[in-house]
Amino acid sequence: MNDCIFCKIIAGEIPSTKVAEDNMTFVFEDINPQAPIHLLIVPKKHIDFRASENEVDFTIFQHLLAMAKKVAIQKGIEQNGFRLIVNSGPDAGQEVDHFHMHLLGGKKLGRMISQ
Ligand code: AMP
Ligand code: ZN
Repeated sequence: MNDCIFCKIIAGEIPSTKVAEDNMTFVFEDINPQAPIHLLIVPKKHIDFRASENEVDFTIFQHLLAMAKKVAIQKGIEQNGFRLIVNSGPDAGQEVDHFHMHLLGGKKLGRMISQ
């Protein structure tokens, strides 16, 4: 049984605030926002980036980036800008194994590189 929280959100079994969706991706608001706009851009297919021994399917990444651009336009922040973040593994503080991209924006963000 798949007990992945993001798979459950995508399946509608756990509520979320959906922002956009297409055949491969699902976008919803982060429950603990770190910026005025904090979205999670998630492939509908469960991908565990670290666990996958096979070659990564790059078409999904293209899709996720295209979706990031689309929702940035939808939110009106494509000109002021935004930040995309992927956390991978414990050193990056990854909490959810299902691959996802954070989109942060809506204010001038601090420096990206931190330790
Ligand atoms: P990461 O540390 O990159 O794995 O980020 C996981 C993110 O998922 C965190 O920013 C959480 O706030 C967010 N999150 C966890 N559960 C939920 C949920 N039920 N709905 C929306 N966002 C969530
Ligand atoms: Zn999943």
